[in-house]
Amino acid sequence: MSFSNLGLSPKVLSAVEAAGFETPTPIQDRAVPVVVAGRDVLGIAQTGTGKTASFVLPMLTRLERGRARARMPRSLILEPTRELAAQVAEHFEILGKNHKLTVALLIGGVSYEDQDRKLDRGADVVIATPGRLLDHFVRGKLLLNGIEILVVDEADRMLDMGFIPDVERICKLLPFTRQTLFFSATMPAEIQRLADKFLHSPERIEVAPQATAAATIVQRLKKAPDDPAGKREALRALMREVDVKNAIIFCNRKKDVGILYRSLQRHGFNVGALHGDLDQHQRTATLDAFRSGQIAFLAASDVAARGLDIPEVSHIFNYDVPIHPEDYIHRIGRTGRAGREGFAAMLVSRRDFKALKAIEKLLRHEIPWIDGAPSEEEQRDAAETRPDGNGRHRRGNRSRRDKRPSGSGPHTGHPAKNHAPKARASAPPNVHHGKERDHRHSDRPKHEHTGERKPAHGHAAPPNQPNKPQAAPQPSRSRQQGMGDHVPAFMMRPVRVT
Ligand code: ADP
Ligand code: MG
Repeated sequence: MSFSNLGLSPKVLSAVEAAGFETPTPIQDRAVPVVVAGRDVLGIAQTGTGKTASFVLPMLTRLERGRARARMPRSLILEPTRELAAQVAEHFEILGKNHKLTVALLIGGVSYEDQDRKLDRGADVVIATPGRLLDHFVRGKLLLNGIEILVVDEADRMLDMGFIPDVERICKLLPFTRQTLFFSATMPAEIQRLADKFLHSPERIEVAPQATAAATIVQRLKKAPDDPAGKREALRALMREVDVKNAIIFCNRKKDVGILYRSLQRHGFNVGALHGDLDQHQRTATLDAFRSGQIAFLAASDVAARGLDIPEVSHIFNYDVPIHPEDYIHRIGRTGRAGREGFAAMLVSRRDFKALKAIEKLLRHEIPWIDGAPSEEEQRDAAETRPDGNGRHRRGNRSRRDKRPSGSGPHTGHPAKNHAPKARASAPPNVHHGKERDHRHSDRPKHEHTGERKPAHGHAAPPNQPNKPQAAPQPSRSRQQGMGDHVPAFMMRPVRVT
């Protein structure tokens, strides 16, 4: 496989080479020639598989002919979040370095003036979040009847964030003759409906996930108590057990992101916070600090889970088991990118067993436990006390095993007998998108877009705080297959990051 026979122009090929891309990823290999030929594409491939370049490269080639007129952009890329939009703009900067294209980034949280100026000058490419694009349109700063190419990127995320009505509205404002490209990591029914409505005899390109970056993610589970303080302690223990270069810690609720952030900071971790309530400036500052290594840990909500390109994450910690199984895939997709090795560990308390089962069903494999799977009894117990897998927990009925200390280092030496440590690990874990998955979004908590603003905490962490309060254990080279009651050596080995 090579970039040279995909129909890309010499200018694009030279930029690809300069960017250090040697071989196209599977989605790029299959989508680029179709997009270059001007056809509609429905592209489905897991997070981190290079979907961005699969539309940026052929768009650059196609946009070489013709030029933009004032306030009449020629192409439009819709992104669900500001960060994702900014990342796509970066792709245009790097891969379009031989082109003199005007790229306008229309995102919320920044002033209209610069954006207006770009549009007035004539933009070849507009990269926008749906809300801000419609704002510009309503203000009369933007005419949409010159759009030749429309990209709806991260479509499933658009759905999650409630942007589908806006996307539909925008689609209807565009010329019928345009080329339309949809990209998504998953294909829920609602996105399929949208695709059926707005794509013209598209080429459906679905890349099977087994050979992708996620195959390089080692996934593990760790038992945690239900109560928040105990859970935070379990997290700290986990963070100290493994040799972490940098990590994202995912919470289900943005409130917990704030609590966890402050708690970790108090315990001497060099941490920042990222969630949907922070304004653009704060988010950018936090992300920059994280990218540059100034912050080693990032407490985040799912708004940060999708598409964000933070290439050097060595670990993912799931502080909460995500309610929607597909979010698990998006979260762990932050590590093990572009063929690098990644580790993802998740805290699981009794109330999470049901959500965990849903994740394992989606993955089509079980995730190994670091210190032995919960016993049948524990699982039954949990099912009885918490039939909904949700809500308040019954303090009085917690088994002793849940109260075991978890903060004393890698070899806590608690007895394994009770845990019946079934060696559930077998092959290195692969991540699959189950075709059977049913995508529920209506019951998704709307924590991420309530619009209220909270004070920044993200970029306040002093850069020189210790992030490994405890010396990391000696690394081992071997990748173990089964689990005893101790933390296996491979969890502790340093992750090489190029
Ligand atoms: P997706 O949108 O599928 O989640 P991205 O487009 O954000 O993934 O790409 C993930 C990462 O892979 C980015 O850092 C990108 O620069 C890198 N990448 C993309 N294509 C290639 C390639 N052909 N070779 C090497 N790295 C690539
Ligand atoms: Mg993407």
